Amino acid sequence: MAESRTKKRCSFCGRTEKEVSLLITGVDGYICDICSVQAYEIAQEAMNANKGKSDKLKLNELPKPVEIKKFLDQYVIGQDDAKRFLAVSVYNHYKRLLQKESGDDVEIEKSNIIMVGSTGTGKTLLARTIAKLLDVPFTIVDATVLTEAGYVGEDIESILTRLLQVADYNVPEAERGIVFIDEIDKIARKSDNPSITRDVSGEGVQQGLLKLLEGSVVNVPPQGGRKHPDQKMIPVNTKNILFICGGAFDGIEKKIAQRLNTHVVGYTASRETATIDKNNMMQYIAPQDLKAYGLIPEIIGRLPVLTYLTPLDRTALRAILTEPKNSIIKQYVKLFEMDGVELTFDEKVLEYIVDKAVEYKLGARGLRSIVETIMMDVMFELPSEHKKEYEVTLEYAERQLEKANMARLQSA
Ligand code: ADP
Repeated sequence: MAESRTKKRCSFCGRTEKEVSLLITGVDGYICDICSVQAYEIAQEAMNANKGKSDKLKLNELPKPVEIKKFLDQYVIGQDDAKRFLAVSVYNHYKRLLQKESGDDVEIEKSNIIMVGSTGTGKTLLARTIAKLLDVPFTIVDATVLTEAGYVGEDIESILTRLLQVADYNVPEAERGIVFIDEIDKIARKSDNPSITRDVSGEGVQQGLLKLLEGSVVNVPPQGGRKHPDQKMIPVNTKNILFICGGAFDGIEKKIAQRLNTHVVGYTASRETATIDKNNMMQYIAPQDLKAYGLIPEIIGRLPVLTYLTPLDRTALRAILTEPKNSIIKQYVKLFEMDGVELTFDEKVLEYIVDKAVEYKLGARGLRSIVETIMMDVMFELPSEHKKEYEVTLEYAERQLEKANMARLQSA
């Protein structure tokens, strides 16, 4: 008797030390591994339930379009049109969600967005940045992996798997989320002629995507990948999910130019063509250009907000190096600061990096790899040198890039 009283027991389930794998000691008692796992689960459930309650959107607390754009401005250079469209669409998405809760009879339809712009102009960056601000589940998916059901690749429904995952499998939460579909141009019909080989990653996928965009209940495989006969599906209603699509649509400028040329005939032609800025045809993009590129009209109809991103010029590239809140240069300065070194760049180095990015036609994406190449040796050596400051000079930058090119040439 006396022994059983002195035995250590879990204060929750009463199991003795011998009956469990672990007994954790508290101030006034003990808890075993089994009970602690259960306690954790209960706490998680309670927290999720509370989260649902406190996350209810309130109109006066929503970030206004102007505020959303200001936030985007801190991270993304230029692209004002795309930012405005995105800000308004996200704001309206919130309003729709609120309206649904209030049960109003004027139903606001959702306005999915499509952003067109060459690669490396900031489409994904815009999407990622806006995600930081959002109160709803958000995910980015790549359309290139999608194929028609039954073919190698991923089913369309896998788009929603990601959304479910970020919403912790909370279906009502996922149903108010936002999905960014990148590289939408890759599922364009490959040619206007129906071909003898099946276009499994083109029109078939568009038809599948249409179902999601239109708003329907879709059975989603919880783990993604292929649908499996014994897998338990989760039904998700896409009616309130906002879709933002982005794509480079390489060569679409030609289609725009063709359309503009064929339209401007007659006596007003010379006046209208004179005002066309041939260096930036993207700004004239219209839904019919997307159709000419190979998107089916039904999809275009479900993406009523069409906006564009402009190519980045020298000034924009220079700004991207240093101005965004987490610009490449600021990131390097931070890296060195952690080693106690104050890193500075000669202004000429920054100009030189931009020159090289322009010369190699690398765009914004190339800026990072150029800076990386220049900095690799210093990053290797400096942490062991106990220096307090370091300035990257033009001479050093030129030497490092030349060395890297030589090495590449030699290995080729
Ligand atoms: P896209 O999706 O249009 O192909 P990304 O958004 O992935 O291009 O851009 C690639 C990288 O280039 C980004 O991570 C960012 O560092 C930089 N970048 C591109 N455009 C901009 C921009 N407008 N402002 C700031 N950085 C940019």
